[in-house]
Amino acid sequence: MLDRTYRVDFPTRGSKLGAAEIAALTSLVSSGAPLSSGIHRDRFENGFREHIGSAHAMSVTSGTVALELAIHLLDLRPGDEVIVTPQTYQATIAPLLNLDVEVTFCDVDPDTLNMDPAVLETLISERTAAVLLVHYGGCPAEMDRITAAAHAHGAVVVEDCAHALGASYHGRRPGALADIGCFSFHNSKNLTTLGEGGMITFDRDDWAYRLECLRSNGVDGVTRPVRGTRPPALLPWMKYADEIYSSEYTEVLRAGTNATLSEAAAAVGSVQLGRLPELSARRAEIAHRLDEALAHAGAGARPHHAPPGTEHAHHLYTFFVDSGAPDRERLVRSLDRHGIEVQLRYFPLHLTPEWRARGYRAGACPVAENSWFDRHVNLPCHPGLTDAQVDRLCAVLHEELTSPGRAFHSSQPIS
Ligand SMILES: *Cc1c(COP(=O)(O)O)cnc(C)c1O
Repeated sequence: MLDRTYRVDFPTRGSKLGAAEIAALTSLVSSGAPLSSGIHRDRFENGFREHIGSAHAMSVTSGTVALELAIHLLDLRPGDEVIVTPQTYQATIAPLLNLDVEVTFCDVDPDTLNMDPAVLETLISERTAAVLLVHYGGCPAEMDRITAAAHAHGAVVVEDCAHALGASYHGRRPGALADIGCFSFHNSKNLTTLGEGGMITFDRDDWAYRLECLRSNGVDGVTRPVRGTRPPALLPWMKYADEIYSSEYTEVLRAGTNATLSEAAAAVGSVQLGRLPELSARRAEIAHRLDEALAHAGAGARPHHAPPGTEHAHHLYTFFVDSGAPDRERLVRSLDRHGIEVQLRYFPLHLTPEWRARGYRAGACPVAENSWFDRHVNLPCHPGLTDAQVDRLCAVLHEELTSPGRAFHSSQPIS
């Protein structure tokens, strides 16, 4: 689709890898240690659990797999209602397409683009089994109100934390604010485990047991002891065979898969976790510069701010064009002409073909629709940007907001 090279590009790589990650990989490869299921996965999971403040943190191969397995653990039944945000990446809710559940889209808050708790409170009922939300762009959702509403109706809450690593909410971390949290360590995210990876965080021990089966080719199901005689062990040391024969499944809920995070990915993950404060600080610094550029430009554009008591992880830098669609289009085109890659995340999910086919229509979530079609803009904001790129980004933004349409006279290439 893109037939140009941007001078300030959107993050293809969200996090920076450097000497420390290379050293971890060199040491792993030269040590002869196992490349799967060794010490690095445990180490990364323990570090992550401590960082988030959850009882369990279990790694998997991607954020998508984390969401698929997390949604499986909810034991949704035919006819259950699941309330979801329409303003997220498709993987947050895609697993629901495979289930016979009723999905209700809950509109978002126009300032944060997070699920609006006031709307949720009007939708939720005894039929609601689960609520799925994202911390949009790294801005924590209003979790106290959301979990209070959900738990009052016996519904579980899943946090998609793919953007939220590094964020905080009244002294706590996304991933430990509700029942289950799902993280992505994809190439584009605030921390990457060599391109792909994911994590599931929660407190329940029974989920840890089931998830261990699910991610390592076991079976999640209900077993009972075998009645009658057992076949004898073929050889005395074959205890394992004896254990397998001693129970049988009365109900298989789901066959497991292999979602083991590789040792190389986990080793890099631990290094990245240690560098998270530095990586987050660079994101915050760039976001602050962009906020200033918007503020100096005066009225007409307003930044996406985290509510009081919360810290934004700045996975996405978002702002809103108050005057709406024509001005936003002009601005986006001008920024693009100046070599700044702009994105609009995310197309309201209830209007994608797979959800329209299930009867969802325009008008169901007016705030999310208005924001995507008319108002919001996402700019590059990631630790890979050089100071020169950030300067250019701010200068072009300021120029275009204060003197719309004027050519920006600075064509020197940026290193
Ligand atoms: C990236 C992302 C995912 C999917 O994660 P992968 O690791 O790419 O599978 C899910 N939800 C959101 C909001 C994301 O941004």
